[in-house]
This record gives sequence, structure tokens and C-alpha cells, in this order.
Amino acid sequence: MNIIVIGPPGAGKGTQAKILEAEYGLKQLSTGDMLRAEIAAGSDLGKKAKALMDAGELVPDDVVIGMIANRIAQPDCAKGVIFDGFPRTVEQAKALDKMLGEKGKPIKVVIEFAVNEEELVNRLRTRIQQTIDAGQQVRGDDNEETLRNRLKVFREQTAPIIPYYKGTGLLKTVDGMLPIDHVTQAIKALLK
Ligand code: AMP
Repeated sequence: MNIIVIGPPGAGKGTQAKILEAEYGLKQLSTGDMLRAEIAAGSDLGKKAKALMDAGELVPDDVVIGMIANRIAQPDCAKGVIFDGFPRTVEQAKALDKMLGEKGKPIKVVIEFAVNEEELVNRLRTRIQQTIDAGQQVRGDDNEETLRNRLKVFREQTAPIIPYYKGTGLLKTVDGMLPIDHVTQAIKALLK
């Protein structure tokens, strides 16, 4: 079973993807996590991606499409994948359809997280403060200015994939502003 979760940064996609991963035996693939691993490893790809990520801009389509193509071929993805943060452009969505179509394992459902943007900014402020209070390092793109740009990039470049999936009949929407366990219940109901 392959699932896509779509929503602006801070909508709770990653949190829900991790819960579903454990519950359904799927593999969560977050292109954001994969890119941060490249940065941590000091790879050329990581070096190129860092400036874009810190500014809240998207990394080029061919880079993330290549990463996903390699990753879904690994044995731990055989039971299915929760795509978290990918696709982020219509170009990426089309490439993913092609890849999964070739494997005969198409997307089962695309879950859109509907959110209130101002509430996301408030959530980010809280998260930054909690990270600082815990003595941990704040992510390079975790600041209000970058978040505002990431929200703009979401509206302009990622939101067009919503009508794309609506057209395929796969799109379902959940209220991302509900408490975490309510969102989980709503998603489980969709997957029945
Ligand atoms: P995330 O952790 O999903 O919020 O991603 C953090 C950052 O990584 C984004 O703001 C982008 O700069 C980059 N990124 C992650 N996934 C993608 C993607 N599918 N396409 C392009 N850039 C991405």
C-alpha cells in the first residue's frame, strides 16, 4: 500500500507518517530527512541542497526524483511507502506515478492536511522554544522568515498537485488542526 501525505510545513505530516509506519508496516520516506542526511554527511548533494533548504526553496526535481527512485527499490520499501514531503511539484507527482506504475504498485490514497497558516506559524514558535529549552539544536530552516517562504513555495509550487490528484480520484482531506490522535483516527478511517 502506497500513501502520499500532502500539507504545508508544520501540518503534522511527519508525525502522522511515523504513526502509520508502525501501524501498517509501511516505510516512511521523507525527502527532507534524506536531504538533511546528505547535509550531515557533507556530500556534494548536501552542500548544494543546504542553501536552498535554509532559504525555504525547493531542491531541483531531478535531485529528489533520483533519490526516491533509488530508495523505493530497497527491500524495506516492498510492503509499501508513505511518501512524506514528496511529491512537491506536479513534475515530481508525474515521475512518481510513472515509477510506481512500472512496479505495478500505484498510490492507494493521497491525504491532504488542511490547515490554518497563522496557526502553523504559532506552532513553529512553540516548537523552536521547546527545542531551545531542551538544549537541542534548532533546524537551519526553523525560523519564521523561512517558514513564511516555505508556505509561499507550498502555495505556488506544491498546491497544484492537489487538483492533479483530485483528478485521479485519489485525494482525501483531513483536518490537520485537530489534535494528533484525532487526525490519526480520521486517517485510519480513510484507509479502511
Ligand atoms: P521537509 O523536511 O519535508 O519540510 O523539507 C525540508 C526542505 O527540504 C524543503 O523546504 C526543501 O528545501 C527540501 N525538500 C524536501 N523535499 C523536497 C522535495 N520533494 N522537492 C524539493 N525540495 C524538497
